[in-house]
Amino acid sequence: MPDDFSGLGLSAKVTDAVAAAGYTKPTEIQAQAIPYVLEKKDIIGIAQTGTGKTASFVLPMLTLLESGRARARMPRTLILEPTRELAAQVHENFEKYGKNHKLSVALIIGGVSFDDQNKKLDRGVDVLIATPGRLLDQFERGRILMSGVEILVIDEADRMLDMGFIPEIEKICAKLPPRRQTLFFSATMAPEIQKLTSRFLKDPIRIEVARKNSVVETIDQKLVRVPNSPEDKRAALRQLIRGEVGLKNAIIFCNRKRDVATLARSLQRHGFSAAGLHGDMDQKSRMETLDSFKTDKLMLLVASDVAARGLDIPAVSHVFNFDVPTHAEDYIHRIGRTGRAGRSGISITLATPSDGKYLDAITRLIQRDIPPMALDGNIREEPVAEAREHEPRERRSRRGRGNTRSDGSTQHAAPGRADRQERNGSEIRSQAPRVHQEAPRPERQDRPEPLPETQKPRRGPVSDTPFGSDGPVPAFLLRPTGAR
Ligand code: AMP
Repeated sequence: MPDDFSGLGLSAKVTDAVAAAGYTKPTEIQAQAIPYVLEKKDIIGIAQTGTGKTASFVLPMLTLLESGRARARMPRTLILEPTRELAAQVHENFEKYGKNHKLSVALIIGGVSFDDQNKKLDRGVDVLIATPGRLLDQFERGRILMSGVEILVIDEADRMLDMGFIPEIEKICAKLPPRRQTLFFSATMAPEIQKLTSRFLKDPIRIEVARKNSVVETIDQKLVRVPNSPEDKRAALRQLIRGEVGLKNAIIFCNRKRDVATLARSLQRHGFSAAGLHGDMDQKSRMETLDSFKTDKLMLLVASDVAARGLDIPAVSHVFNFDVPTHAEDYIHRIGRTGRAGRSGISITLATPSDGKYLDAITRLIQRDIPPMALDGNIREEPVAEAREHEPRERRSRRGRGNTRSDGSTQHAAPGRADRQERNGSEIRSQAPRVHQEAPRPERQDRPEPLPETQKPRRGPVSDTPFGSDGPVPAFLLRPTGAR
């Protein structure tokens, strides 16, 4: 494998931007795919997120796009992503690695206004990043012509399959010029995906960089036995969070969307810097939450599998499985949020007595047992804090605030302790962080996971439904500036 990016055939503008991003050595998928992409070959890349696969298509695309220019409404390249967040991440990659280029990149995803993007499309774009349904929508409205597409990227094809996007992909492929290059990425190769590649790719080069069910070796996995009750599980989780030395930030996975909201609210009430990420939030709030997490303003991100799918959050120290995933493969995807790109990480899974068969499936899949970890003593140590859920708003809002330490930082990670100290008068509370002060909103998530945006009815207005009728998405409990 090459030791640096110089021998791969990338242009100087691209290698300079890669160096500026701080990357010195190509990852395996990059080393293998980039030269073929530059030769304009079709590619099947079997690689999971975390392997550097995004740059494996973005970097050579940037080099190839240096010759030629965009024409009105005819994007030169098209990248299909299953979710808005992934689309936004790819966009960020183009900004990072394309900083020496003057490329026009448009984003057609749900939840954002199309006005600006349409203006861009009218002027001509080099790169169009889209979710499949939204793209078809715009195509059917006559906003986009697909006949100029030179390169098509289908990213996270297995996710597309899970989310029911294959018919849309087929439709899109049929509208593209047959003489194009296709780069196809998937973590797994289910038969439906295989079928898609044999239909739409020409003599593809197959590159496989990780075994399908491999668990990143740098993740320290632990299993904690907890009782069935949600209250006990939440108390156990709080104890674990407080007890983890070196916890910088964490993603906490729940199996059900309504539990994401409940757990996020509960953690907030206990003073943690926490917010939920789920599909009912509008695009702006999802992005804000994600951004707060990426920029360390938010410590705990509570998420469902769909909401967290493929998200690139480079430095997550911990993953908690508040629920044991019912699909064993999700365990690998979830814990893969930590231990990325060679970093070490810790995953802690809470298992109840009724999770036996799911745990068995996971251990079979990863071909090892998850080492047990014990909780300290009694996990129900905080009856007062739990009771707070029913307190009036004003009283609640006075609690759970960070405690300013003598060094000016604010203590958030041990709110139980902080509360006690506050009552003892032993800590000064001079700098209140922004605290979520809203009364608990009625649960409106008793539905299954939201359909991906393309499966929602697509006729009529294109804007996404806002987060319920009761006002904007709740403020997030953020760390105050300089809290770290
Ligand atoms: P991806 O698989 O595209 O989601 O990328 C996973 C992470 O690896 C991202 O945070 C990238 O910024 C990072 N990354 C990409 N290429 C490299 C590289 N050559 N060396 C180290 N990290 C990289």
